Amino acid sequence: MASKHNVGVSRRGFLTGALTFGMGAAALGLTGCGSPRSFEAEAAENIIDGGEYDIIVVGAGGAGMAATVGAVDQGAKVLLLEKMPVAGGNTCFAEGGMNACCTKFQKAVGIEDSVDLMSADTYAGGHEKGNMELIRHMCAGSSDAIDWLDSMGITLSKLGTSGGASVKRIHRPESGEAVGKYIVKGMTEQCRQRGVAAVCNTKVEEILMQDGKVAGVRATNPNGLPIKYACRALIVATGGFGANSEMLAQYRPELRDAVTTNQPGTQGDGIKFAQAVGADTVDIDQIQVHPTVEQTTATLLSENIRGDGAILVNTDGVRFTNELLTRDRVSEAEWAQPGRGAFAVFDQSVHDNNLSVEEKFVSRGLIHVADTFEELAQKMGVPTDAFVNTVTSYNDNIANGVEDPLGRTKSLNPLAKSPFYALPVAPGVHHCMGGLRVNVKAEVLDASGNPIPGLFAAGEVTGGIHGGNRLGGNAVCDINVNGRQAQETACAYVFA
Ligand code: ADP
Repeated sequence: MASKHNVGVSRRGFLTGALTFGMGAAALGLTGCGSPRSFEAEAAENIIDGGEYDIIVVGAGGAGMAATVGAVDQGAKVLLLEKMPVAGGNTCFAEGGMNACCTKFQKAVGIEDSVDLMSADTYAGGHEKGNMELIRHMCAGSSDAIDWLDSMGITLSKLGTSGGASVKRIHRPESGEAVGKYIVKGMTEQCRQRGVAAVCNTKVEEILMQDGKVAGVRATNPNGLPIKYACRALIVATGGFGANSEMLAQYRPELRDAVTTNQPGTQGDGIKFAQAVGADTVDIDQIQVHPTVEQTTATLLSENIRGDGAILVNTDGVRFTNELLTRDRVSEAEWAQPGRGAFAVFDQSVHDNNLSVEEKFVSRGLIHVADTFEELAQKMGVPTDAFVNTVTSYNDNIANGVEDPLGRTKSLNPLAKSPFYALPVAPGVHHCMGGLRVNVKAEVLDASGNPIPGLFAAGEVTGGIHGGNRLGGNAVCDINVNGRQAQETACAYVFA
């Protein structure tokens, strides 16, 4: 099985995969966060004046773009700052879909769901570590967020199964397109229609305070020069720190050398510059590993593949886990196998349902493809008899209604349509569950639990919802529900 080394998403790979949005020049001379300084002191220095805004949004990923679109619609003058040359962040790589309950799309096919059930699944999936108030707030806002996206032509109408969900509630694009790129493309267009483009290659370094309130930010512009922007409210949407090996090692030493699915800009900047003005954090050591990452390129095989029917087989050619357990449990099961990994095995029907398989794995020659199980076993280098027996008995059990010996109860779809596929996978760093402490209004809280005036946050930079393990589909739900929540509270603050 592939060795574990820090591959990450290369800068080039990210830029190729992400969507171009904004300026082109590379930023130079980036520096770390300093201690908070007053706005007057900052203004007195020789620093470029970038102008004044009602709201500055830092980070043009999913949460940042949802906040931007919503805030512009409420009449705010908004600036969206992005440190990378392109918008999209890790949201670009989201493949599963968006969890939401009680949606019109669920109702249309008779799926009974509720805020209680989705909240209970999220809490249980997070090992009962999540903050129930934040969880319920996200779940209660999820159907509305689906409608909001749909009203802008970003339609997530195709329902699927995802690990830890009691009912089908993961919503995906009808086309089979990966959800992240679909949303980023749609939201980029929405920003464009509102006359807002992300100012790229501009890295926020520091929050500027005045009289105990947020008054602006200091950033590094595309030419590497310091620039300040004044604002009345700041929304931090900078994502997690899954590409920052030092932070990973600080909080979870065993993850220092793990591959990461995160784009290189995912460095925890927002956590650091918010901490510098007194923000508290929660669950910061809760970092998710995803069980199906191709290790030589750190490319994620979506959970949809298992949700649509894939099984996991070890190098002895046998299954070893219910593939639809939560990500942490499947990862642990893989680490216990010879070579600390597995093969994700599926058929042409699963392939056809997920366009990314062709794009990410088949076209790059990363996946074994064969017309028969025997031929596939040979390509995988696993014992043929054992592998053929594994797949045929799995198929027979489904056909005969026999209970799965590993306790799988969902997505029991036989591997029936050739050709068949097998991808070598192992766990990789995927998501930071912890982050800035916020309340349901998306206000950033200090160590005493008091909101820091003018400071709001949404998305992966925040902690509290996912507890000890994030369910697939809940990140996309979070960015849309809480991206909008952050702008609503920020607008109320600015226009009060
Ligand atoms: P989320 O899913 O929470 O929206 P993403 O990872 O999709 O998070 O997006 C976060 C975005 O924030 C990324 O595009 C990242 O490059 C950007 N970002 C991170 N740190 C900074 C910073 N210091 N200044 C500007 N943008 C930043």
